[in-house]
Amino acid sequence: MLIDTHTHFYDEWLLPDAEEAISRALSAGVSKMIQADVDSTERPAMWAIGQKHPGVIFQMLGLYPGSVDSNWQEELDQVQHIASAVRQTSGTLDQVQHQKADQVQHIASADRQALETLDQVQHQKADQVLHIASADRQALETLDQVQHQKADQAQHITSADRQTSGTLDQVQHPNQPQTANHPQTTTHPKTAKTDFINMPERFVAIGEIGLDYHEGKEFAKEQKEVLRLQFELAAKMNLPVNIHLRDAWEDFFAVLEDCRHLHLRGNLHCFTASYEIYERANKWADFSVGIGGVVTFKNSNLAKTLERIPMEKILLETDAPYLAPVPWRGKRNESAYLPIIAEKVAQIKGLSIDETADITTRNAEILFGI
Ligand SMILES: [Zn+2]
Repeated sequence: MLIDTHTHFYDEWLLPDAEEAISRALSAGVSKMIQADVDSTERPAMWAIGQKHPGVIFQMLGLYPGSVDSNWQEELDQVQHIASAVRQTSGTLDQVQHQKADQVQHIASADRQALETLDQVQHQKADQVLHIASADRQALETLDQVQHQKADQAQHITSADRQTSGTLDQVQHPNQPQTANHPQTTTHPKTAKTDFINMPERFVAIGEIGLDYHEGKEFAKEQKEVLRLQFELAAKMNLPVNIHLRDAWEDFFAVLEDCRHLHLRGNLHCFTASYEIYERANKWADFSVGIGGVVTFKNSNLAKTLERIPMEKILLETDAPYLAPVPWRGKRNESAYLPIIAEKVAQIKGLSIDETADITTRNAEILFGI
């Protein structure tokens, strides 16, 4: 059994036959696949695929550095809203318990206020008795309401799309006033409205996030800010991070050092750098490396680096539909090609394919909690 820790079935290159590609992956022994999130435009397609394959396809949540432009705040807002909607779904019953305790306290304080009022109007005894009796009735009614509310909440939890909480409604209508502090929301058409019907019950990582200066550094400052904020989100949600890095290691290390207090854990996706880079990344966080098709390329130095990285820190991935391994290099990639990568890693590490599969699968299960 193998796990593809980074793939994109929803990508337009793969989407037309995503279902067939999933079947081919399962037949090839790839039994779990994790889809990396990019931005609002592709999120609905990603969730729709995940919804059809519970326990097989898992989802990340995050804003990809290549999608960071002048619209970044709105995109990040959507990620944050989704994160809080997921937290709310699991936290609602807890909230009802707290609410009930608050109500009881409120009733006690209403009693005290009633007594003070009675003193002032000098009808102490008779009126006080009447008021207390009525406060008691109110107390009973309020507790009753809380019980009904609790039953209602429990019903809501069973279907995330029918949640009545304000936050979910707000997320579904991102142009409404909750985004008023980001005025560009109403004028920028790019952020897609997300259909929450297929929202996953949970996310297994915040990703893919990172820095990418390959197309230029116009939004370098914004990319760093978005990365820092998503590091904080990962820490708050106690999730690993899935890192996409391109031509930006020094800036990445600066952000990572700033965030060392978050004690992040995660995966350097599509790792092709040196052992020294791997070591530096692990100075301020706990990182594994995601090994993909590049390891099969003839001119890759990755084999030398991999020899030095402990097996417990290695994950397998395709990044499909991109970066297909040899002999498919340059063609469309898919998760079904993951055994080719496993075979190459086994060869480099002097292990059997079964041992390699077992160890990398366990690594993925532990890191992503799947
Ligand atoms: Zn990717």
